[in-house]
Amino acid sequence: MRYIWRKLTGRCPRCGQRLNGHQAAGDSVLEINSRATHLTEVLERSPLTQNCSECGRIVFEGEPGFVQRYLLVDIL
Ligand SMILES: [Zn+2]
Repeated sequence: MRYIWRKLTGRCPRCGQRLNGHQAAGDSVLEINSRATHLTEVLERSPLTQNCSECGRIVFEGEPGFVQRYLLVDIL
């Protein structure tokens, strides 16, 4: 079921990020940076980060796909 969902939408069922190559690597870094900046303003500190357990993409604290109990990886 998840596989079908992914095929239809091109998005991760857990975090909702795009899975296929519509974005260039540089765009993706910019997007991640802007998300981190936004969350830093909201949280008033650097957000925690982790990799989505479904697709392995970076998810920040408070975003869909972020799981509190998972091991945290600080990429900033
Ligand atoms: Zn994901």
